[in-house]
Amino acid sequence: MVSEGANSNTLIIGSTGFIGRFIAEASLDSGHPTYLLMRPASPGLSKTTHTIDSLQDRGAIILTGSVDDEDFLEKVLKEHKIEVVISVVGGERILDQLILLEAIKSAGTVKRFLPSEFGHDIDKADPVEPGLSMYNEKRRVRRAIEAAGIPYTYICCNSIAGWPYHDNIHPADVLPPLDRFHIYGDGTVKAYFVAGSDIGKFTIKTIDDVRTINKSVHFRPPSNLFSINQLASLWEQCIGRKLPRVTISEDDLLAAAEEMRIPQSIVASFTHDIFIKGCQVNYEIEKPNDIEVCSLYPDTPFLTVDECFQEFATRVAVDVSKSKLAQKSVIKC
Ligand code: NDP
Repeated sequence: MVSEGANSNTLIIGSTGFIGRFIAEASLDSGHPTYLLMRPASPGLSKTTHTIDSLQDRGAIILTGSVDDEDFLEKVLKEHKIEVVISVVGGERILDQLILLEAIKSAGTVKRFLPSEFGHDIDKADPVEPGLSMYNEKRRVRRAIEAAGIPYTYICCNSIAGWPYHDNIHPADVLPPLDRFHIYGDGTVKAYFVAGSDIGKFTIKTIDDVRTINKSVHFRPPSNLFSINQLASLWEQCIGRKLPRVTISEDDLLAAAEEMRIPQSIVASFTHDIFIKGCQVNYEIEKPNDIEVCSLYPDTPFLTVDECFQEFATRVAVDVSKSKLAQKSVIKC
């Protein structure tokens, strides 16, 4: 293993979020001393409280504060000798990372910074608005990190495995369709679908790996490359029945983006970039700045999309059984 010293003290910001919970769990799984920066809990947020409790039970150290409090951040970085910072803040908090960066510069302890990316290569992809504005903010953060000379890794993990709804920012939190498929364009453009647990696992592998310093790490497992037509067929095999297909055209996606409903229109602009323009597959990995994750860890398998969809199908079976509508042999995979 190419390593610069395993088990760095690691601070994760955004660990209660959609992507962040996978990063936090993987950090704990890997044995890294794991510090989680959390905002003070809002009363009544039982899901968040449950997440925090379960992470704490597994050894996470909770630090209460905000990503936009520079003095506090500098203090905790120094006090806990934090060597790796992983930010998984959501889209509305991207520019707050400039404050975090100032704290990282002042503290002087951090050997690696992973800013909140966890999607496309934002220097290569070119979505329409309002997705473009989010990318411009992420690009601004990249340039500031590079100018500061802080060692970084950009995680370009592509899409999370799930049905890619064009109006849902967290698609893997809901089941694939049970009534009809929305097929984008002709349904043939391919994209990479990576399980959330693998986004966490492979992200944590990169943080102590010298080969990933100042690189964009691209998640392109060949077994996880699917068109939306193929995803639909796979899901039909899982539930044992055919569903109707409704075409969502390029114009439909552009119109949904133009509505400027946030966050739905942001997702529509990314959906257009992925499934019409092919933003995940229309460029080559360019050495030395880009690295493909399978070339780094060839012996570590990715969960397949089939396995992820089987998990969804199990949840359908449980739901159906709960509502006493179960019909034997509905779920076949
Ligand atoms: P979420 O909105 O789900 O989570 C954001 C996290 O940031 C929460 O834990 C939240 O905590 C925390 N947070 C918010 N404000 C603060 C603050 N002031 N101080 C400290 N923590 C704060 O984010 P996502 O998981 O959706 O997005 C994370 C990244 O992943 C983004 O860059 C996004 O673009 C990308 N992404 C990628 C996807 C893919 O398919 N590849 C899909 C979705 C996102 P709290 O619990 O207090 O709210």
